[in-house]
Amino acid sequence: MTNACRNRPSRLLASLGLGLATTVLIGWAAMFLPRGRHGYGPPTTTPVGLAKSTDGFKVWEITQGRNAWHRVVSYWFVQISGQAIMMRNEDFEARKVDLESLPRHLRPASLDDLHMQAWYREVGWPLKALTCSIHWKTQVRNADIIYRVEGGVQLPRDREFQPRALPLTPIWTGLIADSAAFALAWLALFTAVGRLREARRRRAGCCVHCGYPRTGRPDGSRCPECGG
Ligand SMILES: [Zn+2]
Repeated sequence: MTNACRNRPSRLLASLGLGLATTVLIGWAAMFLPRGRHGYGPPTTTPVGLAKSTDGFKVWEITQGRNAWHRVVSYWFVQISGQAIMMRNEDFEARKVDLESLPRHLRPASLDDLHMQAWYREVGWPLKALTCSIHWKTQVRNADIIYRVEGGVQLPRDREFQPRALPLTPIWTGLIADSAAFALAWLALFTAVGRLREARRRRAGCCVHCGYPRTGRPDGSRCPECGG
């Protein structure tokens, strides 16, 4: 019995650790799958609206894409070769959006901090658990762009110069809920495997705790190997 009692806390700890690891790995996988024509994750084809920089000159087009485990909000400076495009005020007013309507981790503190384009991503399943943002830094030529990552680890670009990153910034409610759900699943799995092993050892006449053969020993006596 002592052995079984000792097993439970370690089983719980292992489940909690694996629950967190599962949550993080799912979020990281969501950064790369699916791999589409325009990079990683869901394509940002759904319009959100327009917003202006503080000086009123730069208009930013905001679009988003989402699937079950990845939501991305894209900010694109509406320009041609870096020159802002003049936009009629009524056109802007018709499509303008209040940035504050987006979750805090899916928007910049100020549009003035952005350069050309940025993607704010939240990933995880079933709830979004991690977030990071990927920013244009400089353009070498055409599609050859150097990026920087905020709130995560930057990985080398792929062969098509698409940015890659692993998010490290927690979205606490999602991270805790997902980790707890996966920890429960791991605990259930460990418990089921443990029960099966005990039943198999009992049938084979072995100690249920360590598997040491009990042949010839009276029922109820302690195991000579583990004392259980
Ligand atoms: Zn034993």
